[in-house]
Formats: sequence, structure tokens, C-alpha cells
Amino acid sequence: MRFTLSEEQQMIQDMTRKFAKEKLIPVAAEIDKKGEFPTEIIKELGELGLLGVYVPAEYGGSDMDVVSYAIAMEEISRGCASTGVIMSVNNSLVCDPLLKFANEEQKNKYLKPLASGEKLGCFALTEPNAGTDAIAQKTTAVKEGEYYTINGSKNFITNAPQADYAIVFAVTDKTPVKKSRGISAFIVDMKTEGVSIGKIENKLGIKGASSASIIFDDVKVHESDLLAQEGMGFKIAMATLDGGRIGIAAQALGISRAALEEAADYSKERKQFGQSIASFQAIQFMLADMATRVEASRLLIRESAYLKDQKDPHFGTISAMAKLYAAETSGFVTSKAIQIFGGYGYTKDYPAERHFRDARITEIYEGTSEVQRMVISRAVLRD
Ligand SMILES: Cc1cc2nc3c(=O)[nH]c(=O)nc-3n(C[C@H](O)[C@H](O)[C@H](O)COP(=O)(O)OP(=O)(O)OC[C@H]3O[C@@H](n4cnc5c(N)ncnc54)[C@H](O)[C@@H]3O)c2cc1C
Repeated sequence: MRFTLSEEQQMIQDMTRKFAKEKLIPVAAEIDKKGEFPTEIIKELGELGLLGVYVPAEYGGSDMDVVSYAIAMEEISRGCASTGVIMSVNNSLVCDPLLKFANEEQKNKYLKPLASGEKLGCFALTEPNAGTDAIAQKTTAVKEGEYYTINGSKNFITNAPQADYAIVFAVTDKTPVKKSRGISAFIVDMKTEGVSIGKIENKLGIKGASSASIIFDDVKVHESDLLAQEGMGFKIAMATLDGGRIGIAAQALGISRAALEEAADYSKERKQFGQSIASFQAIQFMLADMATRVEASRLLIRESAYLKDQKDPHFGTISAMAKLYAAETSGFVTSKAIQIFGGYGYTKDYPAERHFRDARITEIYEGTSEVQRMVISRAVLRD
């Protein structure tokens, strides 16, 4: 595995770091305060090729590797965690399964505009009674002639109100013995009659990214929009979430970096007892622990991205480790950052409290930390 970046990886790091510095950091607090979807910024991400980073150019993407994607996700999330998750969903949860499982016609029709940023996507797996237990899907898709009729509802779906297309999971065979093999995946145009947006969540953090429920009321989907074959839905969802962990781990890393860099700067400026607080060993040791965990997170993320690029079968376990570690690190680092800012860290005058709120979700979505521990321990006990 390479520890130095290739020319192309260095280029995307420089580009996204510059973009975060100039376009995201100055507005991130405002995005959080207003809780508004950053439409213009997402348009710019599309123009920069950041909405389909590792999709081949023939399908509208930037033709880079997964390591480049992880680098870009870290930098964008360092600037604005809300923007980071919007980008992650389109790349990891929408373009990725289309790249892997869609047929040529579907790739041309859907992947091209999604990867190029012309359209935005969402991934609709979770339901009110099917969270961690994703097999417990209640949404159904019943076939009659050339069309499936979808009925049911999904909740917590990131990008749902803005999305043009959704990857939707639904039960096509209710026979109990089928279980996960009774679930199928569909590409649904969000403008289709019968699709509506329900409750938009008022969240603790990542307030610029919308999470909403989607209601499907007799939604007709043509059989040509079935992804892969009937019964493949659960396999598609799990394979997608394996890769999605890299995006969320990198989002967590970006948030950690923001908290660390800002806490280090503040510690040099803030004076108590006639000297900067950075001169106290207590503060130095906090910064040392934060920096060490940030670096370790990055190593796990780069390794998992590299393994995904190599199509290595161990990638799923390592990506679970990367997400678990980077997410828990972001909780640790953002909490310590507030400690270093003292009382000011607890106010909205400084971004430390926003990083703390934004970090929290990374332990929950795309597989909670408990789920990551299950994935990892299963591999440990199998080997
Ligand atoms: C802001 C936000 C954005 C989201 N975006 C999307 C999206 O775009 N698409 C989508 O499909 N979903 C999305 N989700 C849903 C998210 O993936 C789920 O919230 C998550 O998988 C957990 O499901 P749950 O909330 O139902 O919790 P539950 O499954 O009810 O879990 C509650 C607790 O029990 C634990 N638990 C559950 N089962 C076990 C077990 N077997 N062993 C040990 N512990 C267990 C969990 O780890 C957790 O601590 C989003 C959620 C949020 C909050």
C-alpha cells in the first residue's frame, strides 16, 4: 500500500482543500444555523466532478480511485459536514450500486446524470420498523404485467427532498422462507406519481443535509427500472453499505480535523496565568491524543479505500474498522476540542459545538457502531 499520494490524489486533495477553505468554511456556520440545503455548493461540487469521483468517465464520473474519493470526502467534510454527507450519499450509496449492479441502459439513463452532478440521488432502505434490522422491510413491490406497484414508506432518507432519483428497496416475495432473498431494489424517479415527501427531521447536527421520510402510494415502476434481478435487493444494500462506510469514516475524519486544527490554533492564542494555554502540558496532551487518533483514523480509511480499489475481499472488514474508529474518534476529538475552548467552546460563538453535534451522527448512520463491531467480530471469529 502506498503512503505517498499519487499525482492525481495530490491534485484532488489540493483542489478540495482549496474549495473547503474558500467556499465551505466561511459559510458552514450559516448553513448549520439556517438548516438549509446548500444548493449552489452542491451544484459546484458537481461541476468539480465530486459527485461521481470514482465512476468511469464514460458514465459521467471523474474516473479516479476510491482513495481519491476518501481524500476528497475528508477535505469537504473538514469544511462542512452537511455538504460532506450529501456528497457521500450520491457517490457511495447511489452511484456505487448503479456502477456495480445496473445494466448498460440503466447506467446511461441514470448513472451518467447522477455522476456528473446534473441530478442528485438518495438511498431509501430504512423504514420506521426496519433500521438495523433491514430485512424487516414492509414496503412492497407487486408485479403486474410490465410494472411493479410500490407501496410503503421510508424514513431518515438523506437528500430525499432534493433527490431526482432514489434507490428503493421493497419486498417482492413475502414467502417467509425467502427472507433477505425476498427483497428487490428499484431505481425510482422521485417525480413519479404517488411519491411524496413526508416528515423532514429536525436534527442535532448536519443540519444542512435534509433527512426525510418518503411515502410510496401505488407508485408504478417499469420492470426496466429493477436493479439487477428480483431478490438481489438485500445483497445490493449490504454491498453498498460496505463501501458507504468509507465515505462516512472520511466524513468523521474531516470533522475531527476541523476540531483539532481549530483547538490547536485557539490554544496558542488564549492566555491564562500570563501565558498561552498551549504551554500547559494538560492541553498539549489533549492535542497529542486527538492528533494520534486522527492519524490512525486516516490510515484505516486509506487502507480500506485501497482495498476497495484492489477489489480485495477483506475490504468489508477493514471499512467497518475504519468507520467504527473514525466515528468514535470524531466523538472524542470534538469533545476534547470543546474542553480546550473552555466555556467559549460551549457557545455558538465558536464552531467547536457544531463539530461536536455533527460528529455524533457518524456513529449511527450507515451501520451503527454496534453493527460495525458485529461485522468485525464475525471476521475475527471466522479467521
Ligand atoms: C441523519 C440521518 C440520516 C440517515 N440517512 C439515511 C439514508 O440516507 N438512507 C437510509 O436508508 N437510512 C438512513 N438513515 C437511517 C440509519 O441508517 C438508521 O438510523 C440506523 O441504521 C439505525 O437504525 P434505527 O435508527 O432504526 O435504530 P435501531 O435499529 O432501532 O437501533 C437502536 C439501537 O439498538 C442497537 N441495535 C440494534 N440491533 C442490534 C443488535 N442486533 N445487536 C446490538 N445492538 C443492536 C443499535 O446499534 C442502536 O444503538 C439515516 C439516519 C439518520 C439519523
